[in-house]
Amino acid sequence: MPETRVSEYDFIIVGAGSAGNVLATRLTEDPDTRVLLLEAGGPDYRLDFRTQMPAALAYPLQGRRYNWGYLTDPEPYMNGRRMECGRGKGLGGSSLINGMCYIRGNALDYDGWAQGPGLAEWSYRDCLPYFRKAESRDAGPDPYHGGDGPLSVTTAKPGRNVLFEAMIEAGVQAGYPRTPDLNGYRQEGFGPMDRSVTPAGRRSSTARGYLDQARGRPNLTIVTHALTDRVVCEGRRAVAVAYRHRGGRPVTARARREVLVCSGAIASPQILQRSGIGPADLLRGLDIPIVQDLPGVGENLQDHLEIYIQYECLKPVSLAPALKLYNQPLIGAQWLLAGTGIGASNQFEAGGFIRSSEDFGWPNLQFHFLPLAINYNGSNAVETHGFQAHVGSMRSPSRGRVRLTSRDPAAHPSILFNYMSTEQDWREFRDAIRITREIMAQPALDPYRGREISPGSDLRSEPAIDAFVRAHGETAYHPSCSCRMGMDAMAVVDAEGRVHGLEGLRVVDASIMPLIVTGNLNAPTIMIAEKIADRIRGRASLPRSDAPYHVAGDVPVRRRPARAA
Ligand SMILES: Cc1cc2nc3c(=O)[nH]c(=O)nc-3n(C[C@H](O)[C@H](O)[C@H](O)COP(=O)(O)OP(=O)(O)OC[C@H]3O[C@@H](n4cnc5c(N)ncnc54)[C@H](O)[C@@H]3O)c2cc1C
Repeated sequence: MPETRVSEYDFIIVGAGSAGNVLATRLTEDPDTRVLLLEAGGPDYRLDFRTQMPAALAYPLQGRRYNWGYLTDPEPYMNGRRMECGRGKGLGGSSLINGMCYIRGNALDYDGWAQGPGLAEWSYRDCLPYFRKAESRDAGPDPYHGGDGPLSVTTAKPGRNVLFEAMIEAGVQAGYPRTPDLNGYRQEGFGPMDRSVTPAGRRSSTARGYLDQARGRPNLTIVTHALTDRVVCEGRRAVAVAYRHRGGRPVTARARREVLVCSGAIASPQILQRSGIGPADLLRGLDIPIVQDLPGVGENLQDHLEIYIQYECLKPVSLAPALKLYNQPLIGAQWLLAGTGIGASNQFEAGGFIRSSEDFGWPNLQFHFLPLAINYNGSNAVETHGFQAHVGSMRSPSRGRVRLTSRDPAAHPSILFNYMSTEQDWREFRDAIRITREIMAQPALDPYRGREISPGSDLRSEPAIDAFVRAHGETAYHPSCSCRMGMDAMAVVDAEGRVHGLEGLRVVDASIMPLIVTGNLNAPTIMIAEKIADRIRGRASLPRSDAPYHVAGDVPVRRRPARAA
């Protein structure tokens, strides 16, 4: 097929997801900078309730319009299951299909990153100004929160489902702290959870918050349905991007200054590998000419695994009726016309972070509470009123990898997380189930708590609990760290996202995290892109924050013993 050559740009951004849209918006604030934004998926249709209505969050995962729908290789410690690895596709990327929980991670995650060689500027005090810059919180700005950033964040409102407060109070009665703001002074404890939802009840993806500001700029060109094949290097310099438009026509676009790969933790290492940048043995096996032997590309893959612990609800207060088809027109109309009601919330309005033992210096378990018993992807809804906790470990030592299986840009890679491959994983999940049961047994839930649906109260022995985790553990959709920052031999990029050994090429997305953070990844990914955007533009970094933050030190994990489960 003949190749079409388009004109030159200063920057080419590959992937219009959480990070790519931040870069596209910030770089085109300089009117003389021409940017091409390439996205493999389509537009984020404003009228498609599946991506715009917060409560509809399970729908975009079903089907392939908005979801790459990757599967892992058989996971050896999970009964050999090929597990879901959903990734967003289309303007907004994974922020177009995610759960909209607005969580930043723990301050000590970033202080830990900053201890790595060359990463001193990633401490929490350096990152917090960029979290604030990105955010516009409906409750207004404070030392931790932004008031006028592109990403809308909404807080819990009075009148929300009674089960949220009951579950928070149960966590406190079980001996854990209450915290008013999981992204504020202290992450540790139970409290309300913020959401990336607009005050009008719409999903706040980066396509909405960021790209909407930039779409009309004459210096930004957005091409959707553009599947990037590879980055083209001349000598040691990245100079162009080769992509297929609308399923066939090959196009090459040239970059005068830089190529910015923002395709996420699964696709970014794939694109580098197809471009000859990666482990030499892998590339040789696929007949890909080696541009740069970087053994860390695709390695160090991390994720959060979680399980759901479900209970029947004795009072008719759960969201179960909202699943009935005959109730949905009214919910839809209220959301569409007034931006309120059940449709306007992701329904993850309460959660928490705790340490399962004093061995952990900061929380290692996260809880999301849902006033409904259902799988994340919308499957296996329990017919009766119910509620559940999603619980999972935060900094698993298990490591996986992403590897190219073919030079075809449409081929899915081989993905393996090696979930539950260490003894620490098992200890944490056994503790997670025990602690969740203790929380659910507290007086605050007495009026609501019915039978334990899953795992089921008779499942008590360690082998039975382990078998449950193997059979029912699922991803929390947080793949990351597969092109990590650092200066050692397995690092792929430096502290500014520049690929080691090459010029004019950066990776900027969740793949460059050195270690997964304690929480959900959308806000941290946006923060990373905001911070690196300033470096690319040659601007001074924002002044470091002096807001204090909680360090548990030798504070005991629990303040008092809880009623037994
Ligand atoms: C189902 C789900 C639920 C989640 N829930 C939450 C949550 O509640 N809260 C939270 O904070 N985080 C959540 N996350 C995680 C969070 O959304 C992601 O970690 C974050 O969006 C990753 O951003 P990114 O920029 O690294 O990649 P992405 O946002 O995935 O962007 C990558 C983009 O690159 C494009 N792309 C890929 N390959 C190519 C190619 N070859 N050519 C061109 N374009 C390409 C993709 O289509 C995509 O648009 C969830 C994620 C998912 C999938």
